[in-house]
Amino acid sequence: MAAVLKTAGSNPLGVQIPHPPPILFKMTLNTPVENIKRIGPKHAARLKKLGIKKVRDLLFHFPARYQDYSAIVPIKNLKEDTEVTIQGKVRHINQRNTYRRGLKIIEAYIEDETGTTKAVWFNQSYLLDTLSTQKPILLSGKVANEKDELYLKNPIYEIKTPGKRTIHTGQLVSIYPETAGISSRWLRYIIETLMPLVDEVKEPLPDFIVKNKKLMPVQDALRQIHFPDSAKKAERAKERFIFTDIFYVQLAALKTKYEIKRTKSPKIKTDIELTKKFVDFLPFKLTDSQKKSTWKILKDIENPMPMNRLLEGDVGSGKTIVGVIAALNAINAGYQVALMAPTEILAEQHYGTISNLISKFQNNSKSQSIKVALFTRSNRRTSDNYAKISKEKIKEKILKGETNFIIGTHTLAQEGVEFNKLGLVILDEQHRFGVAQRASLVKKTTQSPHLLSMTATPIPRSLALTIYGDLDISLLKEMPKGRKKIITRIVPPKKRTEAYNFIKKELDKGRQAFVVFPLIEESRVLEVRSAKAEYQKLKEGPFKKYRVGLIYGKLKAQEKEDVMERMKNGKIDILISTSVVEVGIDIPNATIMMVDGADRFGLAQLHQFRGRVGRGEHQSYAFLLTDSSSQNVLHRLRAIEKTQSGFELAQADLKLRGGGDMYGVRQSGMPDLVMQNLNNIELIEEIREEASKLLEKDYDLKKYPLLKKRVGKIQKTMHFE
Ligand code: ADP
Ligand code: MG
Repeated sequence: MAAVLKTAGSNPLGVQIPHPPPILFKMTLNTPVENIKRIGPKHAARLKKLGIKKVRDLLFHFPARYQDYSAIVPIKNLKEDTEVTIQGKVRHINQRNTYRRGLKIIEAYIEDETGTTKAVWFNQSYLLDTLSTQKPILLSGKVANEKDELYLKNPIYEIKTPGKRTIHTGQLVSIYPETAGISSRWLRYIIETLMPLVDEVKEPLPDFIVKNKKLMPVQDALRQIHFPDSAKKAERAKERFIFTDIFYVQLAALKTKYEIKRTKSPKIKTDIELTKKFVDFLPFKLTDSQKKSTWKILKDIENPMPMNRLLEGDVGSGKTIVGVIAALNAINAGYQVALMAPTEILAEQHYGTISNLISKFQNNSKSQSIKVALFTRSNRRTSDNYAKISKEKIKEKILKGETNFIIGTHTLAQEGVEFNKLGLVILDEQHRFGVAQRASLVKKTTQSPHLLSMTATPIPRSLALTIYGDLDISLLKEMPKGRKKIITRIVPPKKRTEAYNFIKKELDKGRQAFVVFPLIEESRVLEVRSAKAEYQKLKEGPFKKYRVGLIYGKLKAQEKEDVMERMKNGKIDILISTSVVEVGIDIPNATIMMVDGADRFGLAQLHQFRGRVGRGEHQSYAFLLTDSSSQNVLHRLRAIEKTQSGFELAQADLKLRGGGDMYGVRQSGMPDLVMQNLNNIELIEEIREEASKLLEKDYDLKKYPLLKKRVGKIQKTMHFE
């Protein structure tokens, strides 16, 4: 049979049997990668891991950079230790085996008009075949020298087909982001075979924008980004894709912003009288920033469209009270308010201080309309009763509107709590919620409440305009008066005892301290064990004479609550803790924050820890213990020593760590090119302007279906909704 097939067309019977027609896959942009001719199942699986499923995805998988192999050096000019590209013909090729080391050495002699040189490879016998050709070949690699003979060691090779551009050398060559099992050479080889399909890619951008902004059209840009004619063209191609990706994100953010403004929400009339009374009742004077932000928020919620505002203020700048004043007005107007915190400890603390403040205020002003409730996974209370109540009971109270200031964690959303008349949602430490959670919290509520988010993480303006592009922003620029600088010191191991002694002196004066140490959260057993070990060590060692407390994430909620209660009431002198005390905790009598293993935390996190002290009248201190002597680590820690400003630190962190993590951007689905250009504020603003103009002309993007589709997708994946 095989023989017959082989001789098809001239079989012994003289009958013309045509070749079986080749099965022609009509390749399109949507052909799955496993159906691409040269891609086997292994590579297909690896590509899928990268999110590359179709031909189109491969075309839009861009190089990270280029290697310039375009300068061709005459062989007679080769110099030792330089990287070169040569072009010539193979005169001779052979393999030598070294028996001692078991190496197969392939040697090829290459000749151009100026001379001959040798190229050497190891253990790649297939090259004997591949390079036995009369066609010109190109080689790129390092010039080595052995016994005064120059040769190319392990060079990249490519056979030149006349009239065709080379893709692996002799040109600007694309280098793709590194991934295990997928080499740049392989990607170039595959993508080149797909280049004819670029003709099918349609321009998603409006023509007038391509023209006005002098952008490279999409088809040219796809060709140039993979196989550029020049560095300049590669750059222009990349610029085009950066523009497009930012444009999509801006359109999505703006559309969401407008859509939010189109929905209805309660008009909450400000009660000026009541607000004044409350502000006068406070034990401190509001800062100008607090006044301004409060005013802005009160104006926002008077509108019948939802507020979507982010209140940004450094640790300790007094955000809570701004939220409470807005809540007071919402409740006074007959609505419910939900305040959500990222941890149970913080929710408990808010519940404690807010219900306390409100009850004093109500006694004072003889009004009784505010009923505060706490709703976390493990604790539920209402302010008219000290006992804990059941989940069902509290849900009923919320549904009936018997309680109107509900403080909790994201459990509120998870449990599907239904409200009677929800007017305002306050998200404290919103950056801790993650973008997706933020969306789900607001979505779960049946009406369209106003949303006030609060964060101590200063968001650079570029990010504010992209990932948070749907938000309005208010800033608390100043700290309450009289705050002292927190004295911050890096403490090396040999000064540990000295630091302990300093802490003891503070405790003797009646102050309190935190000791934070880093823990790997991967194992519950491990966490509990090392938390306890640390506690024992300090309790039986340096702090024997003091009341030592312990708190960690996996502790039962009731126990956590008890510990925080005792700390608040001054019954604990020194609290040993994991990072659970990172955000929000407010204990004005605490003056020392000691972070053990400070090198294991990010700058923003350390700043948050430090913000746990310096909240009262006393001079406070932060000690950053580290046994690291790495210059990098010390450089980072010194940044904290030097500056008190969270904003400056966040900028530094953004530079040092790439930032994405701290703003929840990584899980946001933000395209890579947008991520890489977050620092380019002018570009982002320019593109936002362009997006805004387009929406003014054609809000539904009717004329641009491709654009509409992309933007719709981004609105969904980035949770701009
Ligand atoms: P954060 O912005 O970090 O959430 P908080 O709202 O917890 O800060 O406020 C920190 C501390 O400052 C609290 O004890 C709060 O009562 C107090 N505080 C808030 N505003 C002022 C102010 N204008 N003057 C003095 N103390 C204030
Ligand atoms: Mg706070």
